Amino acid sequence: MSTDPVYEIYAIRYAHHDRSASENFIGSDLHDVLQPLDYFVWAIVGAGNSIIVDTGFDDAMGKKRNRKLTKPVGDGLKAIGIDASTVENVIVTHLHYDHCGNHELFPRARYHLQDSEMAYATGRCMCHSHLRLPFEADDVNAMVRKVFADRVTFHDGASQIAPGVTVHKIGGHSKGLQCVQVQTQRGPVVLASDAAHLYQHFEENSVFPIVYCVGDVLEGYAALRKLALDPSHIVPGHDPKILACYPPARPDLKGWISRLDVKPEKKS
Ligand SMILES: [Zn+2]
Ligand SMILES: [Zn+2]
Repeated sequence: MSTDPVYEIYAIRYAHHDRSASENFIGSDLHDVLQPLDYFVWAIVGAGNSIIVDTGFDDAMGKKRNRKLTKPVGDGLKAIGIDASTVENVIVTHLHYDHCGNHELFPRARYHLQDSEMAYATGRCMCHSHLRLPFEADDVNAMVRKVFADRVTFHDGASQIAPGVTVHKIGGHSKGLQCVQVQTQRGPVVLASDAAHLYQHFEENSVFPIVYCVGDVLEGYAALRKLALDPSHIVPGHDPKILACYPPARPDLKGWISRLDVKPEKKS
């Protein structure tokens, strides 16, 4: 019998942005429909451990970027019993401002990042305002400082973070974007992060406008499908349907924190 651990996964919403659908797709003919985005960090809990996926942004960054912080990331972790100061491993899917802020929230953590994401965020592509738009120099600096403090582990492609938790390079949306595959009681679940902002992106092979390589975005959808037990096990990075589909971690956390390792209550 397999003794591989299975994990609980929590989606913690920390911010929200009302926007029109046309802003979410390249070549969209949708104009006035509202299609908001939610912003999440994720907690993978099991085997006596908590691994955090992405670190979100704080109130100051929310104001700068005109995004509404709904609950600070630290409060969300606390609500499910995670003390950020004791977290040992943080996976950063990519270095966009909404995935790698709150630099001091995890003082003891080791950060896991793809080689190509750091190279992208510190190299010649950042000379182009179009490509650096979703990055913040302070976030990238903070990660460079962690490298010099011996707190970053680099990965190149697929890599194991813990038994049953692996990262996989997807690229596309950002050059070194990685997703996370997690073994759960319902089989392998994939935290796509921005490899699919919304269900609609991988269901319709459509592309979010912030992109490094469209071809890699489209190939990435196939990679997500391979890593997940079936499409209902793919968790998009910004879809408000997440909190509507998956049960709250506790009744009092409805609309804030959901469990992803249990079957969705409704079809996406
Ligand atoms: Zn992104
Ligand atoms: Zn994002």
